Amino acid sequence: MPRVARSISTDEGNPRVGRLRSLVPIERVTQDYAGFGVGKHACPFHEDRTPSFHVYGGADGFHCFSCKFNGGPAEFVARLKGITVEQAVAELEKRYDVEIKGDGDMIRHLVNKSREEGMATVVEDPTFGMATALYVGQLTDELAEQQARRWIVPANVLRYDWRMGWDAETRRYTFPVIVDGRVVDVRRRAEDGRADKVISMKGGGRGGHLFGLHCLKEDGPVVVVGGEKDVIVGAHHLDASFVSGTLGESTWRRRWNAHLRDRDIVVWYDHDEAGAAGAREVLRSLSSCAASLHVVRWREDDPVHWDVSDVVRNCGREVAATMLASAWCVKPRVDSRIMQGIERSRRCRS
Ligand SMILES: [Zn+2]
Repeated sequence: MPRVARSISTDEGNPRVGRLRSLVPIERVTQDYAGFGVGKHACPFHEDRTPSFHVYGGADGFHCFSCKFNGGPAEFVARLKGITVEQAVAELEKRYDVEIKGDGDMIRHLVNKSREEGMATVVEDPTFGMATALYVGQLTDELAEQQARRWIVPANVLRYDWRMGWDAETRRYTFPVIVDGRVVDVRRRAEDGRADKVISMKGGGRGGHLFGLHCLKEDGPVVVVGGEKDVIVGAHHLDASFVSGTLGESTWRRRWNAHLRDRDIVVWYDHDEAGAAGAREVLRSLSSCAASLHVVRWREDDPVHWDVSDVVRNCGREVAATMLASAWCVKPRVDSRIMQGIERSRRCRS
C-alpha cells in the first residue's frame, strides 16, 4: 500500500520555487537526479508496482497518482534528498545557473544566456535538418515535436546571431529585437495555435521596431517580410538580408526607413489582401530613400495567406529563390551621381 505523501511546502510564500519551475524543465531534474525523463515511472518515493509517477515535462511538473505527491524541481529534489525546499531551490539555482530575480531580469537573462548556453539540445528534423532548443529551458524531444515546427536551424542561429531563447513560463520562443546594439524588445512566439501568436515584452513593443537589423549584411538586397519567422527562415535559405516590422504587415513606420537608406529593397509580404496593402505602404514609404524597390509577386496557384516560410517549407528553397530573384521592379536602381545630376538640372530649370 502506498504511503501518504509527506507534506511538503510548495510555491506559496516562495516565488523562487515557481520561477525555478518555469526555468528548469522538470525532466532535466528527474533525469539528473533519478535517471528518468518525461513519462510514467515507478514512484521513487515508495514501492510502486505499476508506474504511477508521471513526469509531464517543462514547467508542468510531476504527479504521482498513487501517493499523490506532486510539484516541480524544488519539491522533487527536496523530497529525494531529504532537505528543505529552500535548500533544494538554492542547490538547483546553482546547478542550473538560474538567476532568479524579477521578470525584467529573467528576460535579460534569457537574452544574454541563450547564445552561450544554447545549442545544447538538437532535434532531428525532416524538413530543415534540425530544430534547436536554446537556453536552460531546453526543449525536450516531445516539446520540440509539438512546438518547434521545424523552422529553427542551428546553423542559422549561430551564423546570424539571432540569440533565440525559450521562455518556459509562457512556452514561447524568444528573440530579442536589437537596434544599434541595444535590446529594445523581446518578441515571444507561441507555436501552439494561440490567438496571440507573437507578443512583445512588457513596454518593449511600444512604437514598434524593425526586427533583423542586427543581422543585416553590409551589402546585397534587404527583403522586407511579414514577421520574425520569415526573417529567420529567409535569412537562412535565401542569400539576402531580411527584416520585418514588429507591428505587423499593416503598419510601417517612416522612421524605420533610415536603416534601409540606399539599399536595394524587396518587399515580400503574405499572399493576401492585407499583405498586398501592406506591401504598397512599404514601397510608398521607402520610395524616396531606397536605391531600388522590388516586390515579390505571388503565383496564381499559391495558396492564399502563404508567406515566405510556407514557400520554403512546401516548395523548397530553389522555388523561393526563384520567386525572390524574379521580384517585380517598382523603382530601378539609378546611380546616385546620375540622380544628383538630374536633381541639379531640374533645379536649374525651375
Ligand atoms: Zn508515489
